[in-house]
Amino acid sequence: MKKILLILVFSFLSLSFYLSSRFKKTEVKDADTIIVSFTILEDIVSQIAGEEFDVYSITEPGEEVHGYKPTPSDLIKASNGLIFIENGFGFELWSDKFLSNLNLERITISDYLEPIYITEDAYTGKPNPHAWISPKRGKIYIDAIVLALTELKPESEEIFVKNGKIYKDRLSQIDKEFSLFINTLKKNERYLVSCEGAFSYLTNDYGLEEAYLWPVNAETQITPKRMAKVIKTVKENDIPAVFCESTVSAESQLTVVEETGAIFGGNLFVDSLSLEGGPASTYIELLEYNLETIKNSFHTHQEG
Ligand SMILES: [Zn+2]
Repeated sequence: MKKILLILVFSFLSLSFYLSSRFKKTEVKDADTIIVSFTILEDIVSQIAGEEFDVYSITEPGEEVHGYKPTPSDLIKASNGLIFIENGFGFELWSDKFLSNLNLERITISDYLEPIYITEDAYTGKPNPHAWISPKRGKIYIDAIVLALTELKPESEEIFVKNGKIYKDRLSQIDKEFSLFINTLKKNERYLVSCEGAFSYLTNDYGLEEAYLWPVNAETQITPKRMAKVIKTVKENDIPAVFCESTVSAESQLTVVEETGAIFGGNLFVDSLSLEGGPASTYIELLEYNLETIKNSFHTHQEG
């Protein structure tokens, strides 16, 4: 009887040990996972990290990022990470609260960037968060990430520096293409009209003017006053094309199209990558897609 009892106790103990080790396998902190706030950063960090780290984004492709509401499963996934990398400049309105529940080191890219400030409405005086939209600033993201990864894994510094250099060379090519294209434009065409005021860094870096329906996507309510202002700008300057962004409805911009002679040039990608297989499933593709979309709509207009 004693023997049977012993066997039973032993079996119970081994079973619970087996179950708890299986359970722990998904709960244990994974030292090789980096958590990021949005898909563009997920791609940039992955390109630099190579095989050295897994990278996981809290928001998914196509998802609105500014006002995202993290779920309990986001918290569980993030608790497995080593560090959290975010854009900053107030882009992730949810990250302070999200991180307060986690024991994660925080890297904020905007600490390395020069801000351009929003000059309209409730957001006046706050930095515009969308710095990655300019390939010139994208290079600063790369430098900041190379630095952060090297601090985490100094023995792989060479890999990070090399990957960062290759990546920056590609951005330099796109930077050149942008400049060449802008030089072909007439003065009235040097305008980027969008739904969200997300292109300030691009317009600033390449000598364009900008006009938009709302300053940031956290506030997509369009006031009649703002609508009238955009319509006036498009009409007065005979701007050939207007755009919207992939994560919001283009409806309001279509009103601008109806009221002016401009064409709707398409949806540009800003806050999020497209799904895999879509036109902007990497950061490089996103920059190229935006450039091509702007180019095509301006040229279509000239020919038409
Ligand atoms: Zn945005």
